Parts: sequence; C-alpha cells; structure tokens
Amino acid sequence: MVEIRLKNSKSRRMETLDPITPGRVSMYLCGPTVYDRAHMGNARSAVVFDQLFRLLRHVYGADNVTYVRNFTDVDDKINARAAETGRPIGEITKETAQWYIDDMAALGVMEPTHMPRATEYIAEMVAFIEDLIDKGFAYARDGHVLFRVRAYDDYGKLSGRTVDDMIAGARVEVAPYKEDPMDFVLWKPSTPDIPGWDSPWGRGRPGWHIECSAMSHALLGKFDPEGKGRFDIHGGGSDLLFPHHENEVAQSCAAGHAFAQIWMHNEMLQVEGKKMAKSLGNFFTVRDLLDRGIPGEVMRFVLLSTHYSKPMDWTEKKVVEAAKTLRRWYVAAEHGAQVPEAVVAALADDLNTHGALAAMHNLNGVELGAALSLLGLWGGRVPDWAEAQLVDLSAHVDRFAQTRAAAMESKDFSALDALKQALIAAGVEVRMSKEGVELVPGPDFDPAKLEDV
Ligand SMILES: [Zn+2]
Repeated sequence: MVEIRLKNSKSRRMETLDPITPGRVSMYLCGPTVYDRAHMGNARSAVVFDQLFRLLRHVYGADNVTYVRNFTDVDDKINARAAETGRPIGEITKETAQWYIDDMAALGVMEPTHMPRATEYIAEMVAFIEDLIDKGFAYARDGHVLFRVRAYDDYGKLSGRTVDDMIAGARVEVAPYKEDPMDFVLWKPSTPDIPGWDSPWGRGRPGWHIECSAMSHALLGKFDPEGKGRFDIHGGGSDLLFPHHENEVAQSCAAGHAFAQIWMHNEMLQVEGKKMAKSLGNFFTVRDLLDRGIPGEVMRFVLLSTHYSKPMDWTEKKVVEAAKTLRRWYVAAEHGAQVPEAVVAALADDLNTHGALAAMHNLNGVELGAALSLLGLWGGRVPDWAEAQLVDLSAHVDRFAQTRAAAMESKDFSALDALKQALIAAGVEVRMSKEGVELVPGPDFDPAKLEDV
C-alpha cells in the first residue's frame, strides 16, 4: 500500500498516516455556515480536502474512507440574514446548502460520506455539554453554559499559544456570566424571535464550536475500536485554528475523547496579490466566476496549483494558463484507470498537488486520463467548454473568404454581412485583416449554432 505522509499541524511534523482502524480512514472537515454563496476562499478548503478524500479512496478503496463535512445551519449571521430579508431561516439554510453542494460539484468536489447539519445534532450537543458540566469543565449561569478554559491544562497547544498570551492579545469578551474572560460559550439563551431548543438551561441554542465536537464524535469518534473516541484526520482553513479548533480540542479532550490524530490546515486565498475583501472590490463567489464563463475544471486546476499549506494567489493569468493546459490535456487523454506512480507519489507526499500537476505534463493517453480523474478534473469525457474550442472552423474560414471575394467583385455586401452576423451569433469572433479572415471561438461559442450559418 502507498504510504501517505501528512504535515500534522498538532505536532508540527510530517507523519505517516497510520489509520486507527487498519485499512479504514476517517476524516472531518469544518464546512460552511449557510447564509450566502461560497466564495473562492471557502472553495479552496473544499477542493483541498476533496483531493485528499480522492487520494484516500484511491489508496484505501472507495468504501474504506468516511468523510464528514458539516453544515453550520444555526448561527447569528443566519439569524441576521433572515431578519434583513424577512425570509424563514429554514428556507435560507436549505437554499444556501444546496447552492454550496451545486457550486462545489462544478469544481469537481465529490459529496462527502456524511453532510450533517448542526440542527440535526442538538440532542447530542446538549448531552455533550451536560457531560462537560459533570466533569467540572463547564458551568451554567444565567441561561448560558461556558467552557472553563483554566480547567483544561492543554488549552493553546494546538495553535501554540498560552492562555496568558491569548488574554494579552485577544479580543476576549468580558461578560457578567463568565468566571474568566477566556471562557467560551457552549450554549446561549434565545429570545422568542430566534431559533431555540429546550435544554436543562432553558430555551437556547448552541455556541458554534460544540457542534463539530458533537458531530465528529457521533459520526467518527464513536467507532474507535479501542473506545478512545479517536478519528484520523481533521481539516479546516488556517483561519479556524484559533479559536475554533482550539476550542474543539478542549471540549472533546476534556470529555475524554482522544479526538483527531492528524490536523491539517489550508492557507488562505488572495486575489492578484491582495487580500480578498468586499471593500477592495476583488471579492467573488464561485458562482460569479461560473457565470463569467470560467469552467469549474479551470478553477479547480488553479486551486490545486499551489500547495495547500501556502497562501494561494488567484490571478487572471493563472486562469488563462490553466485553461490552455487543460485543453491540451483533454485532447491527449484517454479513459484509463492506472494512475502513474509519480502522480500518486506526489499526492501521498503531504498532498503535493502542484507536484502531481507538474508530473502530468509528461503524460499522454490512458495514463493522463487516469491522472486527470484522480485530480477530479475529468469524468471520462471532454467537458463541453473544451470540446467547443476543438471544433475545426477551417471550412467556415474558406466559405467566408469566398463570400468576401464575391462581395468585393459585385460590390454587394449583404451576403457577407449576413454570414458575419450568423458567425457572431454562434459565439465566433470574426477578425478581418488584409491577410484574410481569422475565426476564433469566443467564451459563448455554441457549435450547434454553426449549423444555421
Ligand atoms: Zn469545526
């Protein structure tokens, strides 16, 4: 079996993946909060861990990998969106979760084994919180339940901070119901106008962090053969390392679970060298780019062209280059199942997607086809956008030249104009010069419309 080595953010070392249950791998990824379209930064995390999922399935077998990616469907941002729009919360979260699934599918992201929604696991969260209270790691006050950070000695180990550093540098909220400013919310009261569930502490809703501890345990940790509550890999964006992941570890380990063995964090995405921000006008969603005609395969290629642990710079130049490379590969590829060793070896080396793509430049035929499939870039047929670019327009060039010559002769340009308009309607750019005519398929090129020309 291929040995997979991963950089563990917990130990800060490269480690060989050694599954808790031999031959079976379990992985959890913090998914989106569903109130809006996914932006390219969200997409990077989904694509990176989809690529790991695909590698794990390739190495361990498709039935031997359990991948969980949650939907956070209870959150104050969702409540705010509902208040702004006057729409029911359930309608917003259902619609947004489906947008996410569809947009990620366009990027070749497979559906994980489980996609739990936080609101489906409220009972598990309440039980988890009760257990933490029983063990002295949490306390209830004024309808809130808080995690007692000072009671958990290893707090800060994952992100490499001490509690005192965190207090000095952090924007910790001081509140009358907290014993210590560092304590974080496990449960909070809900007013009648926002979602709430009955609990031993009154009607309320969970804080954000507890859902991942409860859901990862219910779907993965519970199946640890030694009963230690372990699972293999936990992923997320580096922006989640603190406080979200630090708090997940504290909750789970305080409850007595050994939790994730390997932590992986993908770095953030920039646009043309700048932080992506609505205020800078360089903020875009996956849907925005799909609507601009950038194919999902091209976006995925660009996202995989930088190692997940490095900041990724999204540029127009990379998009153009990726489209060119993919078009060439689609012409050269044939359906195949045997992925060349160099491609698997690169991925098995801490998910070196850049190295895998580089190795593919030397491939052809079935080897290239198999590698493209493993990279999630090819479903066994050339995508329509790439196919469209492959149509031979030489017969149309000849016809255009003849019609043009006839028009010059007769001084009647009506037939030439009609032909030109028909080509434009089919999405073809008509470039005329003294040398002749060049016909170039544009982004809206539709070969079916050429039949009307
Ligand atoms: Zn999480």
